[in-house]
Amino acid sequence: MPKHPPELDWPFFDDAHRDFKSRLDSWCAEHLAHAHHDERREAVDAECIRLVCLLGAGGWLRHAVAGQAYGAAQAQIDTRQLCLLRETLAFHNGLADFAFAMQGLGTGAISLLGSPEQKQRYLPRVASGQALSAFALSEPEAGSDVAAMQCSATATADGYLLNGRKTWISNGGIADFYVVFARTGEAPGARGITAFIVDADTPGLSIEERIDVVAPHPLATLRFEGCRVAASQRIGEPGQGFKVAMATLDVFRTSVAAAALGFARRALHEAVHWARSRPMFGQHLADFQLTQSKIAQMATLLDAATLLTYRAAWLRDRGQRITREAAMAKMTATENAQQIIDMAVQMHGGMGVRKGHIVESLYREIRALRIYEGATEVQQLIIGKDVLKG
Ligand SMILES: Cc1cc2nc3c(=O)[nH]c(=O)nc-3n(C[C@H](O)[C@H](O)[C@H](O)COP(=O)(O)OP(=O)(O)OC[C@H]3O[C@@H](n4cnc5c(N)ncnc54)[C@H](O)[C@@H]3O)c2cc1C
Repeated sequence: MPKHPPELDWPFFDDAHRDFKSRLDSWCAEHLAHAHHDERREAVDAECIRLVCLLGAGGWLRHAVAGQAYGAAQAQIDTRQLCLLRETLAFHNGLADFAFAMQGLGTGAISLLGSPEQKQRYLPRVASGQALSAFALSEPEAGSDVAAMQCSATATADGYLLNGRKTWISNGGIADFYVVFARTGEAPGARGITAFIVDADTPGLSIEERIDVVAPHPLATLRFEGCRVAASQRIGEPGQGFKVAMATLDVFRTSVAAAALGFARRALHEAVHWARSRPMFGQHLADFQLTQSKIAQMATLLDAATLLTYRAAWLRDRGQRITREAAMAKMTATENAQQIIDMAVQMHGGMGVRKGHIVESLYREIRALRIYEGATEVQQLIIGKDVLKG
């Protein structure tokens, strides 16, 4: 019998998922460690590229894209496998989770709505780890308010001319291509946006600045100045961009929740180990009821988040729209993970804030997850509006 964690016996999973998880755990234990890596920009870039190659060679990136004809594991992305992957990678190594996630987020629009030619050109290279992708939606004045975007795509005789900026773009500076959302103006607001694939070496696209954040990973502001893009690089119909972005986020928001589970599960694992072994007042930290209370809270917050995450993934795999469920999962898992990790840091005392300690790095890793792919407040708006709709 393969060994798998008890939550894999929940009704959301079948034998194929349990087998998948066992193989994944063994691979991660062999290939990844949550080591304190060099956080200088060049080192992080190089490590990201190395991890993409490693994940590609291991066959795991095939689960981030759709369509067997294009190198994917399955015709459609299996959301539960995607979540198991992100949860497990995050448990072992935050940068590996990031490297994996961007291959999926950056190609989600192509997998969902790309033409056969676009899929053939981009997906096999992404699935094998030979090309890196990125998702360019946010702008300096348009983060939570996506519909306020200003980056424009003006139709020309044979394509489009892109002008404007995109910021906070993960993989910015190391990606081979970007899926860029720009205003084409068919209608005001969200209905006038279209998605394009822009190769990194397209004249008129440049990296305006690199951005450093608390848990370093490649991040940049992109500038488009008269950037000429062929009509064949447009994804879907003009004006469908917002729909494309939201469909992509329905899948990947759930996977952000799964990454938060991975960070939180690792924090709980470290806290339990520490509490059992840390001598204190003639006993061990774990012998005190205050500690047991903390561990109980952590385990319960984690199970609640796990249930919501895999409910969303399971529903999507049954063909349902999951905008509300994905928002609940993302909000709960990231907020709960922040609390769990904070409690783990507290239990570790000074060790918890020592640079290079695993819980210190988890404390930094988790923070941005409550902000990107829709901040917690945005998830609350989505859920609230959906509930009121009845
Ligand atoms: C590490 C990292 C990686 C990222 N990667 C990408 C990427 O790959 N591609 C991409 O396109 N973008 C990416 N982003 C951008 C991210 O999606 C935005 O930061 C996010 O959408 C929030 O936008 P903003 O930063 O402009 O904040 P703002 O939109 O200015 O919001 C600020 C805060 O206001 C609050 N808020 C929002 N709406 C409401 C409301 N209605 N009522 C009350 N309060 C509200 C929230 O707390 C929010 O954090 C990334 C960001 C980070 C930090």
